[in-house]
Amino acid sequence: MNDTNITIIGAGVVGLAIAEMVSENFNNVFIIEKHATFGQETSSRNSEVIHAGIYYPMGSLKAILCVEGKRLLYDYCEKWDIPFRKCGKLIVATSEEEIPVIEGVRQTALKNGVKDLSVVDRDEIAVMEPAIFAVKALFSPSTGIIDSHALMKRFETNSINNGAQVVYGSKVNSVRRTDKGYEITLHDADGGKYIFTSSIVINSAGLESDIIARSLGISDDNLKISFCKGEYFRINPPKNRLLNRLIYPVPHPKLEHIGVHVTIDMAGGAKLGPDIKYLDTNEYDYKLTPSKQETFYNSAKKFLPFLEFEDIAPEMAGIRPKLQRPGEQIRDYYIREESDRGYPGFINLIGMESPALTSSIAIAKYVNKLVTMIK
Ligand SMILES: Cc1cc2nc3c(=O)[nH]c(=O)nc-3n(C[C@H](O)[C@H](O)[C@H](O)COP(=O)(O)OP(=O)(O)OC[C@H]3O[C@@H](n4cnc5c(N)ncnc54)[C@H](O)[C@@H]3O)c2cc1C
Repeated sequence: MNDTNITIIGAGVVGLAIAEMVSENFNNVFIIEKHATFGQETSSRNSEVIHAGIYYPMGSLKAILCVEGKRLLYDYCEKWDIPFRKCGKLIVATSEEEIPVIEGVRQTALKNGVKDLSVVDRDEIAVMEPAIFAVKALFSPSTGIIDSHALMKRFETNSINNGAQVVYGSKVNSVRRTDKGYEITLHDADGGKYIFTSSIVINSAGLESDIIARSLGISDDNLKISFCKGEYFRINPPKNRLLNRLIYPVPHPKLEHIGVHVTIDMAGGAKLGPDIKYLDTNEYDYKLTPSKQETFYNSAKKFLPFLEFEDIAPEMAGIRPKLQRPGEQIRDYYIREESDRGYPGFINLIGMESPALTSSIAIAKYVNKLVTMIK
């Protein structure tokens, strides 16, 4: 492989969105992905929700890039015929005590510039979602769902059409600073070893982005990712069709996650989840836990009174790349060009958990700006 100009590590939804945007502006863009195709990790193990930007602290990248990203993503879906539906979402209070939480959520959303939320009462809820139970709810009309595979395929196709090269089945093992830029060592599926140099490197390696950063010499403890698993249970037919919108309980106070909720998908399915469990080690563990059925059932039954125990079954799991440790306050994305640390032209994206699918195009714009400042 020749010396390259820009190398993106990781072909998840974030890496691919960046690839499309930078390849519009620069030549010699390479994307290196360890799997045989794109989106085999977190980007295909999530709720596929286009979030409105409701929960995140004001001024954080999570809030800013979500609100901008939602708008950009809807426009992109229209332009490129990506299946999506602006179905809306209800955040439901199931007891009088939860009603103030809803008001708190609305205030946070307003600070983030999400102005389209409305509080709906029992009668309105009964018209919108006759099958659910809630004493009050917050309605977000701009929340939606998307076919994330179709989105990634389009990012990939457009990147290739722009001249970028996607190299699958190649795992980056280390990155080293040299006087020409960065020396990248990768191994292909047959064990072959390749070394090349790149003047700009964008680390979008998701769950392993901290390992890539460490191989370069950036090893701060607060940039260490903790694997945090989330499991889903599907709602079996025909009850999956009783819901028209996304239904969420009120969120966890420290925003470790936003509660076991109901998502519907573009194929007409409905699922409960994800729950949250920090794994003891950073090992890929997508195993399902059928014994959690009772916990899922009990959480959902509060707002889905029609649900019977046997209506749900284990479906899938995903892993969040968390910078936030258990019990800590929410952490923001780490997106930085690392000149300050002595690594000019190296851009890290670490802790790209939800809502990074929603924000992918806004993240790409942000990173593209960082790249433009390097050149
Ligand atoms: C349970 C769950 C639910 C979620 N729900 C939503 C939601 O509804 N809406 C939303 O907006 N967001 C959601 N998210 C978040 C969203 O899925 C992620 O933020 C997003 O997919 C991250 O994309 P990524 O490209 O950064 O990471 P990834 O998809 O993990 O991609 C990183 C890529 O890098 C590759 N890679 C890693 N190491 C190397 C290496 N050494 N060499 C080469 N390649 C490498 C990996 O194989 C992978 O393909 C959810 C996440 C989870 C876990």
